[in-house]
Amino acid sequence: MNNKPTIDFLTHLPITRALLNDKERVFLAVLKGEVKTRSEATKRLSIRSTTISDYVAELLEARLLTEEPSEHVGRGRPSLTLGVNANRVVTIVFQVISQSVHTFMVNLAAQIIAHEHVEASPDSDNAALEAIFLNLYNSIVMKLPAGAELAGTVFSLGGVFDRTTHRWIHTSRWPRMHNLDIRHIFPDKEHSVTLSRTLDNELLIHLLQQNESTLLLHWGYGVGFAFGQSGDNIVEGGYAFGEIGHWHIPGQNGLCHCGQKGCLETVSALWSIGRAVLDDDFQAGDDEEHIATMLESRALSDNPAVRQAVEQMTTAASNVCRVFFPKKLVVSGPFVKNAGIWHAFCDGFEQQNNFFGQTIPVLSVSQVNRDLGVYGAAIPVLEQGLAKLLL
Ligand SMILES: [Zn+2]
Repeated sequence: MNNKPTIDFLTHLPITRALLNDKERVFLAVLKGEVKTRSEATKRLSIRSTTISDYVAELLEARLLTEEPSEHVGRGRPSLTLGVNANRVVTIVFQVISQSVHTFMVNLAAQIIAHEHVEASPDSDNAALEAIFLNLYNSIVMKLPAGAELAGTVFSLGGVFDRTTHRWIHTSRWPRMHNLDIRHIFPDKEHSVTLSRTLDNELLIHLLQQNESTLLLHWGYGVGFAFGQSGDNIVEGGYAFGEIGHWHIPGQNGLCHCGQKGCLETVSALWSIGRAVLDDDFQAGDDEEHIATMLESRALSDNPAVRQAVEQMTTAASNVCRVFFPKKLVVSGPFVKNAGIWHAFCDGFEQQNNFFGQTIPVLSVSQVNRDLGVYGAAIPVLEQGLAKLLL
């Protein structure tokens, strides 16, 4: 894992609060590196110097800022430099990667400051997974930096779950797990625990990079989408929102793990066509990022399973675009890392989206890596923690 952020998400803070008070503006200006001293803050923010001094004093008191003498250059008194105490607020993010449960601690500077993971065998049931989650939590919470405020814990999940009841209903990795009450695992009722979709977390990063209506389509072990217009306007829908992998494809009869027959996933998902595409190199449960590197270099245009999958995915993407009419369609997952597959997808999509002569959505392959997705999960909770300290 790369501990250095490849995007300064803090540049975009705060995403959920459009109107900032002046104290928040001072803190964010220091956080973004726009100002380094009180006098720079006075000039840049057009706030009176006595008011700046009051805010800085409050922010120092809250231990959100630091103020240290800078290197002494030339004559006179050394000036004082403002900095941010990045570990003042941290968030714990749980995420499933292939067959393992990972937990990350993320700070205000978008750094992963701790990371633990444990493999969970495919036959794990509710009790086994509960124990794994609790052990991981107890172990990572020991790494909480001194003086840090733990803003909350986020479960960034795929599959089917209900964020209002905190229940993880189903995941194909652990078929014996059913309706797991995630909130119940944590005895401290004061501690904030939220469930969010991994795909929404990835979409958030895209929306922070460019704020316009975006449909993010994931094509990997599962097939699903997320849609949003801006960082604070991501569509949530019901408990299985966006799970288009279980749309029925006419004429198909293959058994799907959801219990139905002929779902889109039975002809397009990694779990169903992985072996037909990668032969013995395909190991069920292998990490999607690893599979992406294997797919990248292969010539697959003539592979019948690939051709059928591209055709069905193109149609599915076009149909979802008929619902949301996004400005951008971003596709993530291992298949589109193969240039031949991506070109075939784009060709098919363009043909199907010549619609009343209107311009079609801009197509791109998602470049958001897993660490960025983890930040995406952490941002809303970090913001909440920050907001409490900035009152
Ligand atoms: Zn299905």
